[in-house]
Amino acid sequence: MNWINRFALLGSEFSQEVQPTPVPQPAWVSRNFDLGQEMALPDDWLVGSEGVEVFAGNGLWEGMSPRATVYSGHQFGQWAGQLGDGRALYLGELETPTGRFEIQLKGAGLTPYSRMGDGRAVLRSSIREYLCSEAMHGLGIPTTRALCLTTSPQRVIREEIETAAIVTRIAPSFIRFGHFEHFANQTKPEARDSLRRLADHCLEHHIQTDTGFSANPYANLLHAVTLKTAELMAQWQSVGFCHGVMNTDNMSILGLSLDYGPFQFMDGFDPQHICNHSDHQGRYAYERQPQVAYWNLFCLAQALMPLIEEQELAMKALETYKSAFSEHWLQKFSAKLGLTAAGGQASQDKDKHLIQETLELLTNERTDFTAFWRRLSDAAAFDQLDHVAWKRVAELFIDATAFKQWQSHYAARLSAEDRFSCASRMHQVNPKYVLRNHLAEAAIQKSKQGDHSEVETLLKLLRHPFAEQAEFEHYANLPPEWASSIEISCSS
Ligand code: AMP
Ligand code: MG
Repeated sequence: MNWINRFALLGSEFSQEVQPTPVPQPAWVSRNFDLGQEMALPDDWLVGSEGVEVFAGNGLWEGMSPRATVYSGHQFGQWAGQLGDGRALYLGELETPTGRFEIQLKGAGLTPYSRMGDGRAVLRSSIREYLCSEAMHGLGIPTTRALCLTTSPQRVIREEIETAAIVTRIAPSFIRFGHFEHFANQTKPEARDSLRRLADHCLEHHIQTDTGFSANPYANLLHAVTLKTAELMAQWQSVGFCHGVMNTDNMSILGLSLDYGPFQFMDGFDPQHICNHSDHQGRYAYERQPQVAYWNLFCLAQALMPLIEEQELAMKALETYKSAFSEHWLQKFSAKLGLTAAGGQASQDKDKHLIQETLELLTNERTDFTAFWRRLSDAAAFDQLDHVAWKRVAELFIDATAFKQWQSHYAARLSAEDRFSCASRMHQVNPKYVLRNHLAEAAIQKSKQGDHSEVETLLKLLRHPFAEQAEFEHYANLPPEWASSIEISCSS
């Protein structure tokens, strides 16, 4: 095991050394032992008394190099200038027998980039981030991970007084679009060199490019990020995930889901759904996410222009977004319906039409997104449309005529598939369990009372979202009435 700290070695233009600010009486909320194992961490990291101190910011292990990194970004469509790790702290990059991992604390105190903030995070939002990171991973969606969650009686002032918490996040790199924008927007001549060094760092250590795309490594970088981002957007859309704050400083250069704040897995399907209570314009509504990601990629392209130099080449790289997103989207939603691609373009167009018809059906009644797809996976194996599994799908709709009409179109298409293998494939892509707002909320309320058992339960459950897990059946229920009144804002 070896601390290699490659981002720290880039130098002081990129990050500042900062010591974490200690908290009183740190305690574990949860530890992700599975991830600890995947990372081949020493056994005592997550069990000994030292671990809780280090992961609450009260101490460091030898080899760690605590730093806050600087980035800028566009927030809600406006250039916001310098932002940076205001409460995140890079502890270093670890090389273990299973890989290289950056370790970051979130909520470990003030940094040079804290601006008006207090450098802290609250238990409420930290539980959401901790669980969602692992829920996304369970769904097979690229994401930063969460190794553990600690808390302290230290009070944190938000709309009300809350409890402090610190999430330990893991990723190959936490570099954001905003890191590039930061250097591109500086006028001093050295900034160009910094921009190049950052891009070279990504190319050397983190991003595999298609050298066949062009002879320009920076255009290839943009192309690779574009493709990763396009796939990520298709993945988010396919599980009804709304991020809530898709500012360019929350976009990972590796195409990871990053910075979980007011996110939501939609309950009732509404393409215009806005999960962030502070997003008054609906800029980050569900249906806008793919377009916003493209806009964000434009910001990245602009930042990379001094390196790419040829505008046409940058445009060519960006252009690949549209077809990549459409292909992934079609592939994901076809798989959700259990359709296999055969028969060329004409049948693909028909399938696309069927997907759209399905989404319209869901939209018209705000049908529960997760429940619909899962029940459909249960029903797909049966061709008798009065089968009990089909009745469970039909139950989700009030307009029986509209449902029956759609069902007959779907059944006709399914007759071209082997129904049993179809159903079994659908169960692999349509999760039974997602981190619905009300599930997270219940865990938060318990944890606030000092009982963290529900966090553990959800962590365990969401690790295998496609498995039946009979003992957790009730977690797949439709949301209770009060779920729709939960308001999640940027406050965290
Ligand atoms: P976010 O909206 O969480 O993506 O954060 C946007 C910017 O605000 C980032 O630079 C964060 O580091 C910073 N920030 C958010 N909350 C705090 C806080 N409590 N203390 C310091 N900085 C913060
Ligand atoms: Mg952020």
